[in-house]
Amino acid sequence: VPVASIAEDLLALRVRVAPGLPVSGMLVPAERLVLVDGAEPSDRRRFTLAHEVAHWVLHCASPASAPPVLCRQVHAGGGRDVREREANVFAADLLMPEDAVRGAAAAGNTDPLALAPVFAVSEAAMRWRLYNLGLMPAARDGP
Ligand SMILES: [Zn+2]
Repeated sequence: VPVASIAEDLLALRVRVAPGLPVSGMLVPAERLVLVDGAEPSDRRRFTLAHEVAHWVLHCASPASAPPVLCRQVHAGGGRDVREREANVFAADLLMPEDAVRGAAAAGNTDPLALAPVFAVSEAAMRWRLYNLGLMPAARDGP
C-alpha cells in the first residue's frame, strides 16, 4: 500500500522525515504537515505515517483551528486514548488490508515474521493484525 503517495498525492499533506523528532509522529493540521521520526526504522515510520493520515482523515474536521497532534510509540497495539486507538486501527486496515491478510492465511501463511515484509510493516504490527483478525491464537507482546 503506497501510504506516502496516499498522504501526499491524494490528501495533499506534506510529509517530512525529521531526525531527532521527540515523538514518533506529529500532525500539524493548519499546515497540512506530517513529521515522522527519522531515527525509527522504515517499517515503523510507515505505520506512523499511516497513523497520522488516520488522524487527518478521522479527527481533523476543521484543520485550520485544530491543534497539532503529537504521537508517541505508534504501533499496532494502542493506548488508552480513543483517538490514538482509532488511528492505529485505521493504520492497520490501511497497511494490512483484511482481504489480503485473509488471503495469505488461506494460502497457509500466518507467520508474522514472513508476512511483515510482504506488507512492509513491523513484525509486531503484523502479529497484532493477525491476532485481531482471529488468524493467530495469541499475541506475544501487548500494548
Ligand atoms: Zn496519534
